[in-house]
Order: sequence, then structure tokens, then C-alpha cells
Amino acid sequence: MSKKKSGRPHGHYCKICGEYKANEKFSGRGHATHICKACSRLSAAEKAETQTITRLTNFPMGRLSANDKAWLENRLHDHRPEVAELAREVYNIHFPYAERNTRKKQLIINTLAFEIHTEVFDVYGDELPVNRRFTANRISRILTMTDFDGDGVEQSMTLDGKKMSTLLRWAVHSLEIFMWPEDYDLIPSRNSIPPYFDLLPEYWPDEDEEADEDFLDEDVPEGEICWRVQIEYANHTTQEIVSYQDYLMDRPEELYLALLEYFEPETDDFDEEYAENAPLE
Ligand SMILES: [Zn+2]
Repeated sequence: MSKKKSGRPHGHYCKICGEYKANEKFSGRGHATHICKACSRLSAAEKAETQTITRLTNFPMGRLSANDKAWLENRLHDHRPEVAELAREVYNIHFPYAERNTRKKQLIINTLAFEIHTEVFDVYGDELPVNRRFTANRISRILTMTDFDGDGVEQSMTLDGKKMSTLLRWAVHSLEIFMWPEDYDLIPSRNSIPPYFDLLPEYWPDEDEEADEDFLDEDVPEGEICWRVQIEYANHTTQEIVSYQDYLMDRPEELYLALLEYFEPETDDFDEEYAENAPLE
């Protein structure tokens, strides 16, 4: 062991708890083995777990060596919940997109309902009020739209072949709809459970508890719903995402325009539109 004098805290280092402690906190033998008196009273299993947690807590920032990365990845599947949870936190700091991509691969939307009550700019730059509801069902391949500003009657169509699956896959893989609450920093809805399933079973209850604790009365949003998404995934989890902010973010808008396109295809050809609408001679 090299002894660096500069910048190092006083005392003797314990390799189990990772703390620098005064010499009297170590027995004679403890000095040699680098285990403080407190840690020496732990069972072998407790020592091992504490040492692992210490390593995770002091895990290097920046680029990881192949060894550190492999060790960290193994800890994600550690049978000790505290270790696995901490490893997940450390891992997510180093690889922020890994968890998102893993989740993405496992998410299949069965049903999607998208309700929108706001103003949207059309291709001519006019702001138009939108009060509509769309539903999409992967199994029945039925797509519906209700225009509350129109006759309020639900229109529906059945998509051919794999078009519905493609549409719903696009919502997951391109729009990353399951990440909207985090990406847009939306207030969690009380009955929303994020589809974190498989990946981190132990993450679930904590997430819920935290959400409840954070959900103070003052956080209850005031005002009208701007848009709401309700999703049922193939694994039977559900997700509800609500925005009370009175503007449409880019990806919800993309979803809206994509769904609208089925019912009101945009005419790119001005001449054709003009010809259709032109007054007859
Ligand atoms: Zn110790």
C-alpha cells in the first residue's frame, strides 16, 4: 500500500466501511487487516455486503475500466437488495440511456388513449382549438377519433396488417411515450404506475412510496387538462400521463399529428385542394 500524505484524511482506513477512523478505533490485529473494531464485530456476510456497498459508494466517476464495468453489471443482479439497488443508481449515472433502452425493448402497448384539449398550429400557422380523443388497440387494430368540437361522434377504422403494431411501436421507440413524465417533468398522476416491471422489482414499492410522499396537496395541479395519455401494456401494467401545462410539447404533438393523419390526411397539393374548393364558373 502506498502512503499518500497529501489530501488524505487523518486516521486509519477501514476497508469494510470505507471510513478513516482514529487509531483507537482499531485493535492491533485490525490495524493489520484494515478492519475497524465496529466492522470486526460484523458477520462474514455483513462484512462482505458492507464492503460491496462501500465500493459502490466510492465508485469512480468518469470512464470505467472494463473490470469496473463488469463488476458493476454483476452487482445489478446481486441477491442482496440494497446492493442491487445502489448498483442500479450508480449504473444509471454512468449509462443513463441503458435503462431506457432496456425498458423500451420490453414494452408493447396493447391499448392507447390520447385526449387533447389545447390549441395547435396548423400548416398555415393558424392556431386552431383541438378537443379530440383518440384510441388505438393493437389486438383489434381499431383506431378511433372523437372530435368534441365537431359532432362528437366517434369515428373508427381498422388498420391493415401490421400497421397498428407499427404505429404503437413507433410511440414507444421513437416518441418514448413511457418516458414523458420524466422527460417533461410532469406531475405524477395518482393512479399512474410506471412500467418499470421486470427490470427492478424492488424498485417498484420505493418508487410508489416516494411518489406518495412527494405528492403534497400543493402539488395538485390547478386548471384544465391539456392532454392525457392512458396506456395498457402487454404485461398488464398501465400508465396514465397527464399534462396541465397549456401548450403541447413536441412529442405529444407528433403523436397528435400522426393520429390525425389517419382521419384527416393532409393535402400537400395546393392545386388539388384549390381545384376541389374553387367556385364553379
Ligand atoms: Zn469499519
